[in-house]
Amino acid sequence: MLVGCFDRAFESCHQWINRAAVRLGKASVYADVRGHVARLGPFVLPGRTACYMCYRMRTVACETNFEEAMAYERSLNQKDKPHYTSARCSLC
Ligand SMILES: [Zn+2]
Repeated sequence: MLVGCFDRAFESCHQWINRAAVRLGKASVYADVRGHVARLGPFVLPGRTACYMCYRMRTVACETNFEEAMAYERSLNQKDKPHYTSARCSLC
């Protein structure tokens, strides 16, 4: 099973995990944090549920302003590192 949990600015990592999970036939679950709200899901079972990409595209298609939502989704998919890359604990 693969678990992906990243901030919204690192959406591309969820896409990488989705492709690997579908290719390997492994279950996967996704989570993201927006401010003080954490969202869990979708839980993806290859061949039995929609994949993460299908879930995202369905979510974007249902937005009130599709063009704006799709442009934002594309901008997120072009990023290749998390927004907060310098965050480290005192032990690192
Ligand atoms: Zn799909």
